[in-house]
Amino acid sequence: CPFYSSAVAGVCERTLIAVKPDGVQRKLVGEIIKRFEQRGFTLVGLKLLQASEGILAEHYHDLRRKPFYPALLRYMASGPVVAMVWEGHNVVRTSRAMVGDTDSSQAKPGTIRGDFSVHISRNVIHASDSVEVAEREISLWFHSGELISWETSDQSHLYQV
Ligand code: UDP
Ligand code: MG
Repeated sequence: CPFYSSAVAGVCERTLIAVKPDGVQRKLVGEIIKRFEQRGFTLVGLKLLQASEGILAEHYHDLRRKPFYPALLRYMASGPVVAMVWEGHNVVRTSRAMVGDTDSSQAKPGTIRGDFSVHISRNVIHASDSVEVAEREISLWFHSGELISWETSDQSHLYQV
């Protein structure tokens, strides 16, 4: 956790963000990273990978009986994914708001899905939906040695410490 975590509750929070294969193909990685950086979150893990069936089955375990599940796994395995861990105050909830509605056709302009996608089956990005799920997803996608805790120089401008 950063040094100011004792002064500001919730700044230790982390979430898993993944740019899905459609987002990588459409060259949206930079745009998506930019939005999280500009909002004030800190990048603590980042990698490009071809997700295995095993990791995807674990990641979407809760959806395994949904009719769209086989197509979802094919889509997620169709090309490289950029997995990231972002840290900051209330990052789980805030990033869900930045990402927008699951159904891209309902996602509001200004959100990532609302600005860059039109259909639920190709919605560009994943974001953990609770702190508990985030912890599970981060340990699924990253080894602890791949995550870096570091002090950024802008913290006194983002938080009252
Ligand atoms: N999905 C889909 N069809 C649906 C519902 C979901 O293809 O009717 C896909 C979509 O890629 C979504 C993912 O399954 O992002 C996981 O669904 P979830 O409900 O967890 O949405 P999210 O948390 O990604 O907003
Ligand atoms: Mg979800």
